[in-house]
Amino acid sequence: MMDHILLEKYADLIVKTGVNIQQGQTLVIFSPIECAPFARTIAEVAYQTGARDVVISWKDELFSKIRFLQAPEEVFEEFPEWQKAFYTSYVKEGAAFISIAASDPELLKDVNPDRVAKVQKTSNIALKEYRERLMSNKNTWCVVSIPTQSWAKKVFPHLSEDEAIKALWEAIFKTVRVEEEDPVAAWDQHKKNLKVSAEFLNNHQFKFLRYKNSLGTELEIELPADHIWLGGSEYTTEGIEFIANMPTEEVFTLPKKTGANGIVVSSMPLNYNGNLIENFSLTFKKGKVVEFTAEKGYEVLKKLIETDEGSAYLGEVALVPYDSPISNAKILYFNTLFDENASCHLAIGKAYPICIKDGKNMSKEELDQLGVNDSLTHVDFMIGTHDLEIIGVTSAGKEIPVFKNGNFAF
Ligand code: ZN
Ligand code: ZN
Repeated sequence: MMDHILLEKYADLIVKTGVNIQQGQTLVIFSPIECAPFARTIAEVAYQTGARDVVISWKDELFSKIRFLQAPEEVFEEFPEWQKAFYTSYVKEGAAFISIAASDPELLKDVNPDRVAKVQKTSNIALKEYRERLMSNKNTWCVVSIPTQSWAKKVFPHLSEDEAIKALWEAIFKTVRVEEEDPVAAWDQHKKNLKVSAEFLNNHQFKFLRYKNSLGTELEIELPADHIWLGGSEYTTEGIEFIANMPTEEVFTLPKKTGANGIVVSSMPLNYNGNLIENFSLTFKKGKVVEFTAEKGYEVLKKLIETDEGSAYLGEVALVPYDSPISNAKILYFNTLFDENASCHLAIGKAYPICIKDGKNMSKEELDQLGVNDSLTHVDFMIGTHDLEIIGVTSAGKEIPVFKNGNFAF
């Protein structure tokens, strides 16, 4: 087991800086059963910090695999009312949400991808209101991770199980700055640094970003008028500051739905629903994926892109320097929370309405008019490389280097 003091510091950081729990607020924690001791530590800190109540929703991935393999087909299209009510009622009452994202990256590789896609779609439909509230920052939320056995072994296959878990703990603690003497102060500084990059991009209001690297990426992305680059912390409609992902190294905004043209090549495997999609490329025409390839996980990628109309379009553009601390550790996590923060990435699917001026108060139709993509899904995938070049083009046609040799050029 890890150093108890570090664990408490980590829980403290998640509760106070992550979701920034408020007096009298309810906290909902989604946790794998393997992570129960840590979920309990978070709960304790939350009560001590003023949470009115804490609710833990346990996930058991091994059982979920049994169900995928054994249950009759029709259950994969059902989403129980009581479960929907769980999410919807807590989100409406203004609860904060912490998710512990830790899973076996290849858990479902032997499961029929049809079933996995069905479950994903069914739950995305049932939880649409919940997800929309989170993506519009109506509630505070934070995704974090701690090691589980199967995951640690995948990240450090040459180590014994115990050593792998220890190595993954150490890596995670570094990425979330828990080893610093004062993690809260370290995060304050980090937030400031990210805001500087976001400000540069906001001031330029680029009309296009042009990507190019030696993997074969050659992509132009149009950004809508009044787009907003965000990074570090975010604010709810009520003005509560929170950090949606820990770690986070990205600044991000949204693309114009119909504005992507060209080809983009993945630079890291993508763990999607317990399956890996590897060495893939997407070709865009007027924003839409018109062609795609994948050396591994082609069917899974196909199902993802075919989720609905919006899942064939992009919903996020995020910049992360190749020399970010997570990237420099040279660890492939097979967990998007970490890998996306080691690499420039894009997301397929729904865009964050908070990334456009007044977006969080706009109707679905208004957002649609401005080119803000909507979809049941939102999945990040990594495209950053050591030689990635990005040119920003202003509406006056002026070209300004944004990325050079994989890092910010300014
Ligand atoms: Zn992102
Ligand atoms: Zn994303």
